[in-house]
Amino acid sequence: MDKLFNLGNISDAERALMEKRKVDFSKIRSKFKNESRKDSKPTECLVCKQETPKFCNSHSMPASFLRNIAVEGKVHTTNKIIDMPLLGTEEGVNKIGTFKLICRDCDSKIFQEYEEPANYNNAPTDKMIAQIAMKNHLRSIGKRRDEISLYKNLNGLGQINNPFINGMLEVQTLDLNEYLRGFKKAKRAIEKNWENEYYLFFSEKLNYVVPLAFQGEISLHFDLDGNIINDVYNKSKKYIIQTIHISVFPLESTTIIMLFIDKNHKRYRRFYQQFNKLNLEQKLGVINFIIFSYAEDVFMSKKLHENYLKNENLQKVADLTSIQFFDGTKDGSNGLKNSFDLSNMNNIPNFLLIDVEKGS
Ligand SMILES: [Zn+2]
Repeated sequence: MDKLFNLGNISDAERALMEKRKVDFSKIRSKFKNESRKDSKPTECLVCKQETPKFCNSHSMPASFLRNIAVEGKVHTTNKIIDMPLLGTEEGVNKIGTFKLICRDCDSKIFQEYEEPANYNNAPTDKMIAQIAMKNHLRSIGKRRDEISLYKNLNGLGQINNPFINGMLEVQTLDLNEYLRGFKKAKRAIEKNWENEYYLFFSEKLNYVVPLAFQGEISLHFDLDGNIINDVYNKSKKYIIQTIHISVFPLESTTIIMLFIDKNHKRYRRFYQQFNKLNLEQKLGVINFIIFSYAEDVFMSKKLHENYLKNENLQKVADLTSIQFFDGTKDGSNGLKNSFDLSNMNNIPNFLLIDVEKGS
C-alpha cells in the first residue's frame, strides 16, 4: 500500500489500475450510498433528543460564507481538481456537505453566532469556537455513520473480503465514539458557557476574499518536522484520534481563518509551536496544503482561473485524499510524510494568497 502513495514513482500501469479501482469503488459506493444513508439516520435529534423529528439537511459549510465566492449560486468541489469519474465538479451552495442528525429547530439555533458574518467584526468568542467544533463533530459523526452502514451493506453482499471490512468497521466505530464524545463536550461547553475549552492558536482576518471555503476537523498524521501526531497504525482501543479544526470563511470583503484544537489534544503541542514560528505567508501555505492533502469538502470559486485548478502538483496532493478514501483505510502515512514539508507545500498554488476579485 505504501508504494501507492509514493506518487512520484508510480508507473503508468499502476496509475491505470488505481484509476480503475477508484471507478469501481465509486460505482459500488454510489449504488449503496442512498440505501446506507437511510439505515444510518438516527431515531432522535442528537441535540434536543426529540424523537423522530423532521430532520434538517444541515450544512457543514454555511451558505452565508459560500455565497461570497459563488458564481450563480455554485462553487467548485475538490473533484474539479482530481476529476474522478462519476462525481460532479460543482455544487449549489445550498446543497453542500449535508448531514441529517438534528432537527430543524436545533439547526436554526445552535450555530447562530458563528454563522453570523457580523460577529467577525470582533475576535471570535468561546461560544463561536465551540459551535464550530460541534458542527465539525456532527459532520464527522454523519460521515462515519454513513460509512459504517455502507460497509455493513457491502459486507452482507460479500463485495469485498470480510476481514478487511470488519477491520474497517472496528476503526470506524472507534472514530465514531470519539466524535460523539467531542460533540457532547462541545454541546456542554456552549450550554454552560465554558471558557478556554479549545485552544485557538491561529486567528487571522485577511483584507481580501480568498477563492476557497473550508470548515472541518482533520486528524493530522505528522507535524512540520515529520513527527507523528496521529499514529494510524496504532489499533489500540485506548488510542484516540486527535483532530485539528480548520476554518476558512470568505466574508464580503475579508476572509477569516482560524485553527484550533481541543485543549486536551496535547499531541498537537509540537505542531502549533512549529506553526507559530512561521511568518503569515508560510502559515497560510501550511493551512492550504493541509486542506488539500487531507480534506474532501473543499469548495472553490468558479472565478478562479483554470490554470490553478489544473496544476499538476495540486492534482497529486488532492489525489491523496481520494486514495485514502477509496481504499477505505487511513494508511499511506509514508507518502504523506514524504510530501509533508515546506518545500512541497510551496509546489502547489496557495489559494489563501489569492484575491478572488483579482483572480491572482
Ligand atoms: Zn433538536
